[in-house]
Amino acid sequence: MTDQPSNANESLESADEALRRIVEGFRRFRQDVFPEQEELFKKLAHEQRPRAMFITCADSRIVPELITQSAPGDLFVTRNVGNVVPPYGQMNGGVSTAIEFAVMALRVQHIIICGHSDCGAMKAVLDPHTLERMPTVKAWLRHAEVAKTVVAENCACSGRDTYEVLTEENVVAQLDHLRTHPSVAARLASGQLFIHGWVYDIETSEIRAYDAEEGRFLPLDGAKLPMATPRPRYLQG
Ligand SMILES: [Zn+2]
Repeated sequence: MTDQPSNANESLESADEALRRIVEGFRRFRQDVFPEQEELFKKLAHEQRPRAMFITCADSRIVPELITQSAPGDLFVTRNVGNVVPPYGQMNGGVSTAIEFAVMALRVQHIIICGHSDCGAMKAVLDPHTLERMPTVKAWLRHAEVAKTVVAENCACSGRDTYEVLTEENVVAQLDHLRTHPSVAARLASGQLFIHGWVYDIETSEIRAYDAEEGRFLPLDGAKLPMATPRPRYLQG
């Protein structure tokens, strides 16, 4: 993986300094921020009703609450390297567990899978040699292999950057994997759940979202709201 530290231009903080800043941040939160929003935290103390599940990369530059201007309690967030959703049955790990819990227990109506620009995981998928000393990451990113193949067989004609297309195709692949989870498939079939595939651009703040009807990514804030959800087959009366 070739992810650069976000403060690459500055000299690296010492370990002590890094922790001091984190603890100081917590102090400021407790003293200044928490009292201002005490009502909200009181309301949230015993219940959560998130309006969406948000699956994104562990990359520190992606802050779901910031880019969607969400408050505590709004988003049920799951993060991992490469915003991967393993297909159902292959791995009963954290992502599959969170999906089942979000759909069955929290009854979320939306699941957003959000990839991003400059993703170290996507670079590693294109150049697996960088993963030789990271066998766990390498194994995990097998779930993105399908996107690599789709790109390898189709990308030459698109005239676009391979990395950019891979990032989008990875989101499409993970949407496909998401649909293999029984809880998701059942709610999609009855029109009670909507799935979304986004790619966030760190440098420009743009989000492009997958539109299944058009088979391509469109601006999330454009004239048409892109929809990745397949047509329901058992609409609840
Ligand atoms: Zn990433």
